[in-house]
This record gives sequence, C-alpha cells and structure tokens, in this order.
Amino acid sequence: MIKRNSKQNKSRLSGSNMNQDQNENMDNDLHELFLEECADIYNAEQQLIKALPKMAKAAESDELRRGFEEHLEQTREHASRLEQLVEQLGESLKRKTCQAMKGLIEEGEEIMKEQKGTSALDAALISAAQKVEHYEIASYGTLVTWAEQMGHDEAVELLRETLQEEKSTDEKLTQVAESRANQKAESQ
Ligand code: FE
Ligand code: FE
Repeated sequence: MIKRNSKQNKSRLSGSNMNQDQNENMDNDLHELFLEECADIYNAEQQLIKALPKMAKAAESDELRRGFEEHLEQTREHASRLEQLVEQLGESLKRKTCQAMKGLIEEGEEIMKEQKGTSALDAALISAAQKVEHYEIASYGTLVTWAEQMGHDEAVELLRETLQEEKSTDEKLTQVAESRANQKAESQ
C-alpha cells in the first residue's frame, strides 16, 4: 500500500508556477505512485549509463557499437528529462534501486561472457539490449498514461519524447539483428 505522508501541504505550497488543475492532482495516491515509478526508471537509466559503454566495447560490428554509443547519449538525456519533469512538479527524485534493471543487466553480462569469442556475440548483445528497451517502453508508457490522467502536461511531453526514443532504439536493434548479427551467428 502506498503511504500517503504529510505531503498534501507541501504540494499545495510548492510549484507556484503550476496551474490550479495541476495542484489539485498532486495529493493523491496516483501522484505518489507516479513519483515512485519515476524514481525507479531514473535509477534504471543510471544503471544503463554504466552498462552501455561496456556493451559498446564488447560489440563486434561497428554498426552495433555506434548504436550503443548513440543510445548512451540518449540515455543521459532520459535521466535529465526525469530530473526536469519531477522538478517542474515541485517534487524531488527519491533514491531507489531498480531491481528489474539490475537483473536484466546481470543476465546481459552473463550472456556476454558466455558468447565471448563466438560469432553469436552480437546477436546475444542485441537480445539483452532489447529486453532492456522493452522494460523501459513499458515503464514510460505507463508514466505517460498516468501523467495524462493527472494533467501533468509538461511531464507528458518529456515522457513521450523518451518513449519514442526507446521505441526507435528497439526497432534499430531489430534491424541490426535481421540484417547481419543473426546470419553471422548462424553461419558458424
Ligand atoms: Fe532510456
Ligand atoms: Fe533505452
């Protein structure tokens, strides 16, 4: 159960630049849940900022390596958008560990070790990366819906931008897999 603390007053007082509608939507359980989820995905993005350079280094093909490097830049942007949108709501990001992302990254490291030196390494890296993207797509999709429900318009815009980037990263990974990595793995 989500604990509702004495935030009601704080919410009322904070963010003087917010309109009345928004203020009225900041003292309920959905708002608290929204903040929890923002903290979770923020930590997930932080974990990815550490993991993506290792994945880029491990990638065999230049195309995949560049893809990871490009997504690292986007990932930094995803983290700062979360900081920005929470601040715009007059709130702050809680510290939290995203256990799901921790598990996905651990599995990714495991499969990278197992496939090291094989022609299936890139296919393995792509599979790990797509699981990560799908987790993010689920989280941001949910956050967009909740933000829309509460009328947090600025947050909706920022979250949608990130959601779109996660989706196109997933599609690019599919293209790399289908155009080269899978055939390469199958040829050995
Ligand atoms: Fe992201
Ligand atoms: Fe991502």
